[in-house]
Amino acid sequence: MNKLITKEIFKEDPYKKNCISKIINIGNNWVELDETIFYAEGGGQLGDTGIIKTQNKEITIENTIRENNSIKHITSSKIDIGIGSTVDCIIDWERRYKLMKMHTCLHLLCSIIDAKVTGGSVTDDKGRLDFNLDFKPNKEDLKIKLNNLIQGNYEVSYSWISEKELDENPNLVKTMSVAPPRRNGTIRMVRIGDNIDYQPCGGTHVKHTSEIGSVNITKVENKGKLNKRVVVSFL
Ligand SMILES: [Zn+2]
Repeated sequence: MNKLITKEIFKEDPYKKNCISKIINIGNNWVELDETIFYAEGGGQLGDTGIIKTQNKEITIENTIRENNSIKHITSSKIDIGIGSTVDCIIDWERRYKLMKMHTCLHLLCSIIDAKVTGGSVTDDKGRLDFNLDFKPNKEDLKIKLNNLIQGNYEVSYSWISEKELDENPNLVKTMSVAPPRRNGTIRMVRIGDNIDYQPCGGTHVKHTSEIGSVNITKVENKGKLNKRVVVSFL
């Protein structure tokens, strides 16, 4: 994979709500920045929204996407700010924090159900995971286990392994639908507690599971013989 042009600040500090960045490229409805706090849509998690500001202009960022080795901040029209200008970047933190909470919650859900994940999505009000499973897990049971893990206030931590290590340990990959985020030969691993969950992930997470707050299992659905869908929402 090519080296990403934009430095991803959200990977080192997902709690950073604003930063000053430089515009390095402009398209008809997007801008590229030298570094960004906007999470680019991927791995089932929605892209960030927010604003970028110059001294006398404010531009809405409607979405953030990844295209090959570039992160594009989507604007409603072409902006008339020169390349090289610095801008104040501010993400819609309320929305992003909900996305972080729900994303982390899905890691916990993943740890409760012993099956590979075949699909999933995270929005700011709900999350879902599909599991390669031949029976429907019990809704109440899932709810109790999930809320117990949240209240356990486990720490979320990061480490990096080489692509070779990952290739030699294919069981570390729990999600069949999303390729692990490979970058410059290393993979970021996300760990919750000592050994509650450990898997490659490029998304944004809260620091401690209690930040998620209480959740409800709103649905456990049959989506085919080997596909069971679990939907989670905030209580
Ligand atoms: Zn994650």
